[in-house]
Amino acid sequence: MPRLKKCPDCGGKMERSKTNFITESEQGLIAIENVDADICTICGMEYLTAESDEYIEKTVEEISVKKIESHQESVFRIAAKA
Ligand SMILES: [Zn+2]
Repeated sequence: MPRLKKCPDCGGKMERSKTNFITESEQGLIAIENVDADICTICGMEYLTAESDEYIEKTVEEISVKKIESHQESVFRIAAKA
């Protein structure tokens, strides 16, 4: 997926930055921190990069399959490698 230069929503300028992704799973809430995203400088809309999408999918799958223990109650906090 090519890098977004303009926000599809408002036409604002997009900047490559980091964001946190939070999703629910059977194991609880999964928070994946520090993932790459293109973020609109006008409306703040966040679009994950293809790499981030892939990383998140893999991580969520790993948590489901390996049943990784959460160190916080029902919350998995995972920081993506920079
Ligand atoms: Zn926008």
